Amino acid sequence: MLKDYTPPYNATVVQKLLDQGAVLMGKTNMDEFAMGSGSTDGAFGPVRNPWSYAASYIEQTGATPDSDWVITGGSSGGSAAAVASLTSYLALGSDTGGSTRNPAALCGVVALKPTYGLLSRHGLIPLVNSMDVPGIMTRSVSDAAIILGILQGLDTRDSTTVPAPSSPTELPQDFDIKNVRIGIPKEYHAPGLSEETLAQWSHVADMFEKAGAHVEQVSLPHTQHSIVCYHVLCHAEVASNMARFDGLEYGHRSKVDSSTESMYASTRHEGFNDVVRGRILSGNYFLLQQNYEHYFVKAQKVRRLIAEDFKHVFSSGIDVLLTPSTLTDAARYTDFSQEDNRTRSAQEDVFTQPVNMAGLPAVSVPTALSRRGLPIGLQLIGPAFQDRKLLSVAQWIE
Ligand code: GLN
Repeated sequence: MLKDYTPPYNATVVQKLLDQGAVLMGKTNMDEFAMGSGSTDGAFGPVRNPWSYAASYIEQTGATPDSDWVITGGSSGGSAAAVASLTSYLALGSDTGGSTRNPAALCGVVALKPTYGLLSRHGLIPLVNSMDVPGIMTRSVSDAAIILGILQGLDTRDSTTVPAPSSPTELPQDFDIKNVRIGIPKEYHAPGLSEETLAQWSHVADMFEKAGAHVEQVSLPHTQHSIVCYHVLCHAEVASNMARFDGLEYGHRSKVDSSTESMYASTRHEGFNDVVRGRILSGNYFLLQQNYEHYFVKAQKVRRLIAEDFKHVFSSGIDVLLTPSTLTDAARYTDFSQEDNRTRSAQEDVFTQPVNMAGLPAVSVPTALSRRGLPIGLQLIGPAFQDRKLLSVAQWIE
C-alpha cells in the first residue's frame, strides 16, 4: 500500500535524531504494517538474520546460508538486522506487542521499548494507538540510554506524550545491584519455551543472586489471557486504522475504476497482504454491534487486570521483572514459513505483548549463544517511567 510512498514530513523521533546530526541511511524492511513476528511478510520479501552467515551458526549446524537461513524475528526485523550486521549504529522500530524486542533477541542486539508516552508517536504509522511506541535498537544498553535521552519528551503533535524526566539518561557508572529486588513471574514458564532459553533465564537469575540482588518468584495471574486480548484489541484497532488507506489521498490506487466502490475494494485487495486483510476482517467482526460487548469490551477489562497484575507486583517492592524475550532462538525460514503465520505469530508474542497492554518499559538484552550458535535474549520489565533504572539493571547483565 505504501511501497512507493515518500512521506512529506518526518516523524518526531526521526527529526530529533536529524537535529542531533544523525545520518539517516535508509528505511528498513519489516512485516507489512508491523503485523507479524518473523519479518517474513513484508512487501519487500523476507529479512535474513545476519547470524545465518556467522561462523558460529555454520560450524554448529553445517548450514549453507543461501538455502538454510534463519529469520530475524519481527516485525521490525530489518532494523535489528541493520544493527546486528554493524550496518548502522542505531535503528528505530515499532513496538506494539514486541516487534523490537523480539527481533533484537533473535539478532543479538539491544531493544528498548520505552514507557508509553515517553516518545512521540507522531509520524509512526499506527497499529494499536494505545500500545504503539517507537522502539530503540542499539548494540549496547548505554547506547540505548543515550538515544532515549534524545528522543523522549513532550510533543504537541502527540497528546499522549509527557515531559521528559529531569534526571540525566546517561547510566550511572557505579550502579549497585545489591538489594535490587528482581521478580521472576511464574506464569512466564510458557509452553514452547526451549530448554536452552529456560537454562539461560535461570543462569542470569543466579548471577543476580550471587551479586547480592534479591531474586524472588512472583505471580502475574492474568498473563495466560493476555495474548487473546491483545489480538482482539489489535484487530479492532486495525479495522479502523486501516480505513484511511482508500486509494484516494495517498498510497496505492487500483486501476479498477468502474465505480468508487470497486476502486476502494480493489485498492485494498491489491494493497494489503492476507495478514492485514485478515485482521481487518476479524477486527470488524469484533466491533459488530452484537459482538462489541462480548469481545472488545471484555478484552478491555482483561487488559486492565493485566496492567493491575504488574502494578501489584511493583508496589510490593519488586524493582524489575526478569523473563525470556522469546520462546526459542531464531527459527529457520523454511520451518517458520511453513506454519500458519497467524498462529505462529501469536505464540511468539507471549512474553512481550503484556508489557504493551500495560504501557510499561521493557528492554531485551542478548545474553548468550544457543547450541546452534544463535543469540538468546532476556527481557527486563520495569514500572512506568523507570526506564533509566531498568536500563541500569540491563547494563549490569550486559
Ligand atoms: N507480533 C505482534 C503482532 O503481530 C506484534 C507487532 C508489533 O509489535 N508491531 O501484532
